[in-house]
Amino acid sequence: MARVEGVLFDIDDTLVDLNSAAVKGFNQLTAEDFSDVPAALREYVARDYADDGAGAYERYMAGELTFLGQRAERIRRAFDLVGLEAPPAEALGAWSARYEEAVQGMWAPFPDVHACLDALDALSIPYGAVSNNVERYQRNKLQLSGLGRIGVLVGSDTAGAPKPDPRPFHAGCRLLGTAPGATLYVGDNPVNDVQGAKDAGLQGILLDRAPDHKIESAEILQNLGSLAAIIGGNSGFLAH
Ligand SMILES: [Mg+2]
Repeated sequence: MARVEGVLFDIDDTLVDLNSAAVKGFNQLTAEDFSDVPAALREYVARDYADDGAGAYERYMAGELTFLGQRAERIRRAFDLVGLEAPPAEALGAWSARYEEAVQGMWAPFPDVHACLDALDALSIPYGAVSNNVERYQRNKLQLSGLGRIGVLVGSDTAGAPKPDPRPFHAGCRLLGTAPGATLYVGDNPVNDVQGAKDAGLQGILLDRAPDHKIESAEILQNLGSLAAIIGGNSGFLAH
């Protein structure tokens, strides 16, 4: 097993259950406008919004859209999918602000996160977060989610590029004080997180929290419950 001296986590849908908050927040914001939309379609569209069926977030990361711009794209797509006219451009800022207020109250860590961090603390393994969003926004998200204990944080703005670029991964390693090869990255995106980490010289593990676990592989974690045990050497999971 390759030695792990530090762990870096993705935030969205790895530590913080952003997807559930997005579905709930979206349903809350559209309750009135979508009151005549059949329940199954509403559910489909809320999922599509949360999963970013518009592909707008990647365009935000690529600098093609602003944060508000990507949200506007997703709102427009959702209204389009249910056959309703989207709020006019000048109303989208207010829509987004109300949505933001709703979801921020719903941000919460997955139930296995604190136990995992406790176990890493017990092993004296330092940890941090490397995320594809503005660092200040993500710092606030960690605080509001009750994850203020995570001191090391790198955002795509402060790193100078989003994952899978190696810069954010290397910035995280520098802050942890660990060599990339001895640092494990854990995230839910196979490309931005796992492949990006490996290309940057880190170790990488995919976290697949989906209940159906479509991807079968020994190198995929289904939750964070076993992470510290794996790092502690109680498993040959990372052997190669
Ligand atoms: Mg993620």
